[in-house]
Amino acid sequence: MSAITAEKYVENFMAQLIAKNPGEKEFHQAVREVVESVAPYIVADPALMDMKIMERMAEPERVIMFRVPWMDDEGNVQINKGYRVQMNSALGPYKGGIRFHASVNLSILKFLAFEQVYKNSLTTLPMGGGKGGSDFSPRGKSDAEVMRFCQSFMTELQKYIGQDTDVPAGDIGVGGREIGYMFGQYKRLRDEFTGTLTGKGLNWGGSILRPEATGYGACYFGAEMLATRGKSYKDQTVCISGSGNVAQYAAKKAMEFGAKVVTLSDSNGFIYDEEGLNEEKWNYVMQLKNVYRGRIKEYVTKYPNAKYFEGERPWGIKCDIAMPCATQNEISAEDAQKLVNNGCYCVVEGANMPTVPEAIEIFQKNKLLYSPGKASNAGGVATSGLEMTQNSIRLHWTREEVDQQLHRIMSDIHAACLKYGTEEDGYINYVKGANVAGFIKVAHAMLDQGLV
Ligand code: NDP
Repeated sequence: MSAITAEKYVENFMAQLIAKNPGEKEFHQAVREVVESVAPYIVADPALMDMKIMERMAEPERVIMFRVPWMDDEGNVQINKGYRVQMNSALGPYKGGIRFHASVNLSILKFLAFEQVYKNSLTTLPMGGGKGGSDFSPRGKSDAEVMRFCQSFMTELQKYIGQDTDVPAGDIGVGGREIGYMFGQYKRLRDEFTGTLTGKGLNWGGSILRPEATGYGACYFGAEMLATRGKSYKDQTVCISGSGNVAQYAAKKAMEFGAKVVTLSDSNGFIYDEEGLNEEKWNYVMQLKNVYRGRIKEYVTKYPNAKYFEGERPWGIKCDIAMPCATQNEISAEDAQKLVNNGCYCVVEGANMPTVPEAIEIFQKNKLLYSPGKASNAGGVATSGLEMTQNSIRLHWTREEVDQQLHRIMSDIHAACLKYGTEEDGYINYVKGANVAGFIKVAHAMLDQGLV
């Protein structure tokens, strides 16, 4: 019998974590969610307690911080902060995206790196967890400025990454263009053509389906969740936030599954198209966001039947399924209550930690199907893992092969959530399921590898 209760363990653990990492509120939030789920397992297992597995998991193996100087088009010198958080390598090389956004700070990257460890564990692929980025925002910058920034960022970062060490990918603000510029500089400085970055162009080492993978994977996972209640996406109304990579492909797959997607957003506001998106409208959004790099409000100029709501989020719109695909903490408790009141019964996270803890409580209390991003958005990193494999064996798999593997992985993650998250009354607590399943594998690898 353990000398300490799970509740007490969480309380002590969080007090220490907060004291050691003051002010890092997103990091505290992400760690608390995991610790609350796994505490009963930890206090029941002396090895996990004695070897301080959770304490070690919450301390990055390494954090790299650096200056990123670059010159804008007017000839002014600009300076940004660059980061890479190498969180845990028990299961494989560090793996996780790079985020370029003005809001980036160490707390956000530590939360993302921490989540990434469990997510990568859930994929069943041999990947540790990391995350990096900069407080640089590509929005409003010319291609030449983005290139100069990416080259400067990679000039420093390349010292710490490699195909067997740390393999970054994209995230907010880092898409195909940015990966291309960073890969070019990596290759130039290191004089090697390896799979050190994922999300590469298809004709130079990228995997087919990688751009689609996070959004598609979220819908595959959502379909499994819906099936537990005998439902599917067909004829359901779906609210999506964001209009970037994840939102775009979540919308596409939801439409293919027969759903009506009625909202998209960006950081300025959201559009509501009561008639739903169709292929033509979706193609327009792809051009608007990926080619012209415009704002989502321009959608209503093109499609005047739709409405634009400046400064608002889409969660007040009536829907059956909500898919937050923009950023962290974008569903407040008030938003969650609105969704529940309007009959939403399923929330599938495409973004990382988009739902605040009080909102998760509302979803779970009302027995909604609710999946945390570390389970439902794992399709992106899973396909990055498949890209690494293809780079290593120097072969390209077909769309069907990759899609089949993506499907299988999402299905396996869902099964793991059922195994560890099904409660006595039959309700599936996907948060608990994902956290426990992800944790167990990493914890045992760490025990096997000794005190490192
Ligand atoms: P993109 O940069 O392609 O798109 C991000 C979208 O979210 C944009 O519409 C952006 O609007 C909006 N957004 C960003 N920050 C904010 C904010 N503070 N408030 C409101 N809206 C915001 O990023 P991704 O689609 O790649 O990433 C979206 C989410 O999915 C993130 O949480 C990311 O960590 C997660 N994710 C991404 C994966 C991937 O493969 N890309 C894999 C797994 C998770 P604006 O243009 O105005 O900034």
